[in-house]
Amino acid sequence: MAGIYIHVPFCKHKCTYCDFASYPQEIGKAEIYFACMYKEMKSRSMVLKNKTFDTVYFGGGTPSFVDAKYILGCMRLIKKHFNLSENAEITLEVNPGTIDKNKLRIYKEAGINRFSLGLQTADDALLRSLNRIHTVEDFKVATKMLKGYNFSVDVMIGLPDQTLENVKNTLDLAIESGASHISCYALKPEDGTPMYSKYLNGDLPDEDTVTDYYDFTVNYLKERGINRYEVSNFCKDGFYSRHNLNYWKRGEYIGFGVSASSFIDGRRFTNTEKIDEYVHCLLNDKYAEIFSEQIEGDEAKFEYVMLNLRTSFGIDLKEYKHAFGTDFNVDFKDKLPPILKYLDITDSTVKIKEQYLYVPNNIIIQLMD
Ligand code: SF4
Repeated sequence: MAGIYIHVPFCKHKCTYCDFASYPQEIGKAEIYFACMYKEMKSRSMVLKNKTFDTVYFGGGTPSFVDAKYILGCMRLIKKHFNLSENAEITLEVNPGTIDKNKLRIYKEAGINRFSLGLQTADDALLRSLNRIHTVEDFKVATKMLKGYNFSVDVMIGLPDQTLENVKNTLDLAIESGASHISCYALKPEDGTPMYSKYLNGDLPDEDTVTDYYDFTVNYLKERGINRYEVSNFCKDGFYSRHNLNYWKRGEYIGFGVSASSFIDGRRFTNTEKIDEYVHCLLNDKYAEIFSEQIEGDEAKFEYVMLNLRTSFGIDLKEYKHAFGTDFNVDFKDKLPPILKYLDITDSTVKIKEQYLYVPNNIIIQLMD
């Protein structure tokens, strides 16, 4: 199983916490950008003939902000040049306020069968302070439009002045909307963003408060049949994000567009974040890779462990042996004793205990050395 990721780097304007590759002032370059991406896709498809792709994910940026013809163009090309499973999961990220009936009709024609909506918070004042383009009402309109579709909702904790009541209201709105899947991310104040100054001023909730909000979220959703299956991801029975699960299983994926990463045949590689550089490379018949690394041996094993331990499924010991030809318990026997109290170990799996899953990296780091 493998996935396809397509990066759409355009947004209406920049949110105050955003350090993703998204360029509101560059929307005029959409035509040339997609032309170059089609070229990249066609060219890469030649060496991917032996792979079957089970998921496609349009992320960004705001994929629903651009003309829907580009999404249709990507999907036509994928169906023509890649082996796409018949029941592939095809997800498009949507910002409320950028979707309408006509776009939805074209998405349907393109084969999109899952949407991921950025709500973030159910508080209009807070949305404004984050410079989000939408209101709570826009979210309600969008989810009404998506009735009958499978969709996920993104929410955030750790926002400036956020209260527990706001977290609860936000989760209620996400649940009532009919979402089958909820992603809950803790705000990370990234250097260089306006949010970072707020962090330096001490305007963000402290770590203990954010941990309380996270624990509340885990329990509140669980009581409503929406269970955590990865640190930040929750779903109703069976509604996992197959695309993201593939990342955490260390499956293969190919990424197209600026800043997109790929993992194919043991090689990780990443494209430039700059639209002009990306376009320049593709127009000159070159890929726009700025990083490439072959991952082998212990590094590959560690990667596998690190990714799988983020999920509630943990490490499948049979799968580990099948992938590497060695036993996990033997490979990590010297590293395990100090962290045993954090782990649930059975004959077939190794998992981080539920109560420690919020900060898996503190545990995983001890397996590294
Ligand atoms: S919508 Fe997403 S990608 Fe666009 S600016 Fe906001 S956080 Fe960044």
